[in-house]
Amino acid sequence: MKEFAPPPPRADGRVNLVGLSRDDLEAEVARAGLERFRARQLWHWIYHRGATDFAVMSTLAKPVREKLADLYVIDRPTAVKDLKSEDGTRKWLARMPDGQEIETVHIPEEDRGTLCVSSQVGCTLTCRFCHTGTQRLVRNLDATEIVGQVMLARDHLDEWPAPPDGRMLSNIVMMGMGEPLFNYANVAKALKIVMDGEGIAISKRRITLSTSGVVPMMRQCGDELGVNLAVSLHAVNDELRDRIVPLNRKYPIKELMQACRDYPGLSNARRITFEYVMLKGVNDSLADARELVRLLRGIPAKINLIPFNYWPGAPFECSTDEQITKFADFVNNAGYASPVRTPRGRDILAACGQLKSESTKPTAQARIAALEAHKALQAEYAAQVAEKEAVLAATGTL
Ligand code: SAH
Ligand code: SF4
Repeated sequence: MKEFAPPPPRADGRVNLVGLSRDDLEAEVARAGLERFRARQLWHWIYHRGATDFAVMSTLAKPVREKLADLYVIDRPTAVKDLKSEDGTRKWLARMPDGQEIETVHIPEEDRGTLCVSSQVGCTLTCRFCHTGTQRLVRNLDATEIVGQVMLARDHLDEWPAPPDGRMLSNIVMMGMGEPLFNYANVAKALKIVMDGEGIAISKRRITLSTSGVVPMMRQCGDELGVNLAVSLHAVNDELRDRIVPLNRKYPIKELMQACRDYPGLSNARRITFEYVMLKGVNDSLADARELVRLLRGIPAKINLIPFNYWPGAPFECSTDEQITKFADFVNNAGYASPVRTPRGRDILAACGQLKSESTKPTAQARIAALEAHKALQAEYAAQVAEKEAVLAATGTL
């Protein structure tokens, strides 16, 4: 067993038990001079029953409960805002002990309830269409803060213990703020806790991790966690992707596609979801759709078309409904399931790409610069599209 480093205590000297792996919880309990089996009892109370107070742990003797309360707490981030969209989507602004804030979103659907979890405060990457990418302050969340979001949601949904079927929180997507594969160790630790069958018990089949393409971490993620993978593709050539998903300069499309082909456990029953945000006049032509289909050939894939969600100061517009339908029809006809993601919670800035915890109003100068950049990008793109479509028309492919 690897050596156990005790977690740092809070200001009051007590240690938060949330976020410790099973092994670490055992080691911590032993350090406190308690029997190891107490760890299992604690696990049940913390992650199955959602206890926040040792006093309710009726299977533990009173002196044990008192000792635990002297040394430990069971804490989640504090929900400083709880917003509800008219479509039922809910967004919590969660504050961590150091004052940093992140957002967590719950999306209820007919047959499931999905929690969109953040992995970082802000994001080190700067995808041009993403609000989180404009946030300056960045730090990784630790496992406590990642599991804490799930626990906070369960508290608010009043779902302790969660029923085996028909849960309001049945699925998790690592699609909130941040790039989860740049904080892999903490994300992995947190997801293992979430998947544990004697606790929160959300299975790997109901968890999807979305990455903007951190190629070197993809295999480990599949091997170790076995969760579903979503890849934020958004552009079908390196020239455009370099600009709108700058990580592409480091891991270009060809390498990304190879890492997808190599994703452990990939099969027709377990496909990779390719996310594609529909940006008007930028990546939404039928030539792009055709190239997309060509790129994905041989990869068990689903395509998720995401209408661009606007945020104040964004340098893009969403494609028209008509263009989205045409694009979707093209990829459908090529044999790909390609649902268009219905935007949820736009009215509370809870939809994909709208999350940002520290609101900074863009200056007039920044807005003008963004507009200029937008116009230049659109003009250049229109020329490229015209050229590509002329070639396709001439060869009778379109
Ligand atoms: N960092 C990870 C996960 C978080 S973003 C990633 O990039 O995959 C979750 C999804 O929302 C990604 O596919 C992202 O590209 C998309 N997204 C970002 N901004 C968006 C916007 N304004 N409108 C629609 N989707 C957006
Ligand atoms: Fe970060 Fe994902 Fe937003 Fe890109 S889309 S800036 S990787 S959160």
